[in-house]
Amino acid sequence: MLNLVLFGPPGAGKGTQSAKLIEQYGLIHLSTGDLLRAEISAGTTLGLEAKKLMDQGILVPDAVVIGMIDNKLNENKAAAGFIFDGFPRTVAQAAALDNLLAQHDVSIQQMIALEVEEEELTQRLLSRGKTSGRPDDQNEDLIRKRVQEYTEKTAPVADFYAQQGKFTGINGVGEIEGIYAQIVSIVEKN
Ligand code: ADP
Repeated sequence: MLNLVLFGPPGAGKGTQSAKLIEQYGLIHLSTGDLLRAEISAGTTLGLEAKKLMDQGILVPDAVVIGMIDNKLNENKAAAGFIFDGFPRTVAQAAALDNLLAQHDVSIQQMIALEVEEEELTQRLLSRGKTSGRPDDQNEDLIRKRVQEYTEKTAPVADFYAQQGKFTGINGVGEIEGIYAQIVSIVEKN
């Protein structure tokens, strides 16, 4: 099994690069943001609670996203592997993911981080907001709040994987194909 964590701040390009990896390696994409938005669309209690936090740019509780990932791992036992996108976003989520994967006798091979500075992120998200319909992409204060959450709670997750010797950072600014080529070379080394 090939299990990758694609890491980086909002707007770094995780979704774009995930789509390319899925096509090449037949992996299952697990984006907690997408899973949460599906709950919101379905009007579930979980979705309604999550929406209140997402509309403020705040992370939803760890237990909520860990439970969603647990379900998806159990539903896809025969998968070639997974790309985790937007998860884990806290050190507690990273530790929980290690435990969940261990229950299936697998582990993360590599965390690949897309590095992009804040001004570029803000511009990318505001431009995505014009077409994505995502309310959290249409307000600059909300974007800055998401980047702040990332810096405070999510950035430490990189150290968690670095301590396991599983972290590689790459420059997330440049041609999509060039960035993808770097990701593939990291994947192929594993
Ligand atoms: P982006 O990375 O562009 O901000 P996502 O779709 O990954 O977008 O996440 C949107 C929102 O969903 C986040 O701001 C947060 O409120 C919530 N969210 C998504 N994944 C997680 C997670 N793993 N832990 C906590 N909250 C999450």
